[in-house]
Amino acid sequence: MVLLRCRSLTINLPPFLPSHFQSQKFHTIRLFRNPNFNSLPQISASSSLPTNNPTTNRSISDAARFARSVLFVPPGVDIEEITEDMVLPGSNIVIGPFAGHSQIKEVVFVKSSARARDCPKDDRPEIAILGRSNVGKSSLINCLVRKKEVALTSKKPGKTQLINHFLVNKSWYIVDLPGYGFAKVSDAAKTDWSAFTKGYFLNRDTLVSVLLLIDASVPPQKIDLDCANWLGRNNVPMTFVFTKCDKMKAAKGKRPDENIKAFQQIIRENFKQHPPWIMTSSVSGLGRDELLLHMSQLRNYWDQ
Ligand code: GDP
Repeated sequence: MVLLRCRSLTINLPPFLPSHFQSQKFHTIRLFRNPNFNSLPQISASSSLPTNNPTTNRSISDAARFARSVLFVPPGVDIEEITEDMVLPGSNIVIGPFAGHSQIKEVVFVKSSARARDCPKDDRPEIAILGRSNVGKSSLINCLVRKKEVALTSKKPGKTQLINHFLVNKSWYIVDLPGYGFAKVSDAAKTDWSAFTKGYFLNRDTLVSVLLLIDASVPPQKIDLDCANWLGRNNVPMTFVFTKCDKMKAAKGKRPDENIKAFQQIIRENFKQHPPWIMTSSVSGLGRDELLLHMSQLRNYWDQ
């Protein structure tokens, strides 16, 4: 367990975070998306990235600088004022003043779209859910909305893959994106997936953030890392949602926390600042309420 202390900062970080973090290689990512981003007073993590300015660097403590490199610090939170109870359990996510109203009361399937330009045009914010086939995406969506069989439309390998919009509480969308990495899909179909989903990420103005699902029951997969790197390079805000964290160690396999640690070590080589991450299980409900709270703060900030 890494214990971090400063003036008002006492944070117990999960054991799979190393005590030191190497900084910057090829890119940093945009942690927030807000249409008025440039005109708002910025206290966001992305605006407080480490700089080469010695004056700026001297103005925060080493502990705060360390916390900033491992934690997801939302807008409105002073890094020096973070306390342990502000960090969601099983995650690196600090909860700030924009969090609230996270529970899902109503969810309605709206439409399936074959192209980004066919998606709903009502300007409501949306959070997209993406992951390798079999990662547990349908299970997670059903767990979040507490309904069975909501996320079925994009499930069948080889069938037309569509962008599915679900309207939540009449105010925002969950977007179920086609899974990538179907073992049996032809190269042509893989290329199609790539072209059309990338088009969605690059052109969808109302996309607040992507939840990139990573299966914690297996070691890091190249296809997931490629996807994360692509999103990062293209400034698409993302949260790593580790799925199947309830799974016990297989005969020869590693535990979920070991797989998560290995994944994060690779991510740190490519990202200057670690994206938000959270551990979940659709079987036990681990991380469900915490993830909804995190989604609420991303969304509410976007709405400002
Ligand atoms: P999708 O293809 O990404 O939509 O994945 P599914 O939601 O259909 O899940 C794929 C498989 O993983 C199914 O057999 C699920 O029962 C299983 N699964 C999904 N989530 C979990 C989880 O949190 N824990 C465990 N142990 N199994 C899960």
